[in-house]
Amino acid sequence: MTLINSKIHFVLLAGGSSLRFSSNTNKLLAKFKNKNLLIHNIEFIKELKFKKITLVINNLKNANINIFNDLEIIKGGKTRSESVKNALNKSKFKSKYVIIHDVARPLNSHKLIKKIIKNLAEKNYDCVVPYSKCSDTAVINSNNIDREKIKLIKTPQGFIKDKIIRLHDKNNRKILTDDSQLFRNEKNKFKIKYLLQNEINIKITYKDELKSLNKLVENNILVGIGYDIHKTIKTNKNNLLKLGGAKIKSKVKVISHSDGDVILHAITDSILGALSQRDIGTYFPNNKKNLNRNSIDFLNYALNKMKTKKKMINNIDLMIVSEEPKINPHFNKILYSISKKLNLNKNSITVKATTNEKSGLIGNGDFIACWSNISLRDS
Ligand code: ZN
Repeated sequence: MTLINSKIHFVLLAGGSSLRFSSNTNKLLAKFKNKNLLIHNIEFIKELKFKKITLVINNLKNANINIFNDLEIIKGGKTRSESVKNALNKSKFKSKYVIIHDVARPLNSHKLIKKIIKNLAEKNYDCVVPYSKCSDTAVINSNNIDREKIKLIKTPQGFIKDKIIRLHDKNNRKILTDDSQLFRNEKNKFKIKYLLQNEINIKITYKDELKSLNKLVENNILVGIGYDIHKTIKTNKNNLLKLGGAKIKSKVKVISHSDGDVILHAITDSILGALSQRDIGTYFPNNKKNLNRNSIDFLNYALNKMKTKKKMINNIDLMIVSEEPKINPHFNKILYSISKKLNLNKNSITVKATTNEKSGLIGNGDFIACWSNISLRDS
């Protein structure tokens, strides 16, 4: 039997007091993935095409959820179990199954929701509960306990709705930290499925936990573009041209104030661009000091700025436009050199080369140019 999510009731619990999180910040509104925890969860549930969504919340102030006009809002109780009871008894939604989830866990797994529903609808479980194993050493009163026996219980949990309603009604305001406990308490009366979940599914309790989680998921990517072009002149002898720090033999000579390494100049400018700095000429003007200067100095200047801003290169894509020299015979040498200069794995560097099809000044072999596209991430 395939069940469509739109027929299942989804209860999202957002009624907690956030006291352990912060004395003055509402956890629901704390930033997660450029949104807040509440909006993130609602959007995720909607992405999965749930239509019968009940939000249990006490404080709607600043929640900005009016964009979701089809949510059912129910006031939470003093305890978590009271809140669930309110939602189950007062909701207008009819359904055979219900999924209950805490907003403090940023939902991230389509796969998990699918498994929960499959176990309810196809395997006839009464209660489906995800858990993870305890990989830390577990101690109670100075005694190590067998961590293999520990199940760390998570949400979302899925239930046969009328069964969980009955158990909550019977429960008499006992404080519960999750709903599957009600099924466990009824020794062997119900079919409970424990689903081992290896994906990260942490409950945000403290501010620092959210900070670490944001660090994991956010990856503030910066992108930058760099372009450089130099005049070349044909000579009768072999010259040593610098390209990406590698020395390449060529019949042309590059005209430049510095050593004329068009690739390193483009890379340097792209790093500076990603860091919102000025261009290479601002920091290294055509003065006496920079005459015939090694372009590695320019690159290292940009790389140091990048390190100060706690960034590292994610990947770089280079396009060299040159009629002479032909780049392909020197491809490996150039790639190896760039990889060394940037201290970056070759897999993260793309070196592409093209000619200008004999058209224009570059096509005539009078110029050599390079484009650099770079992305940086948090180091
Ligand atoms: Zn240049």
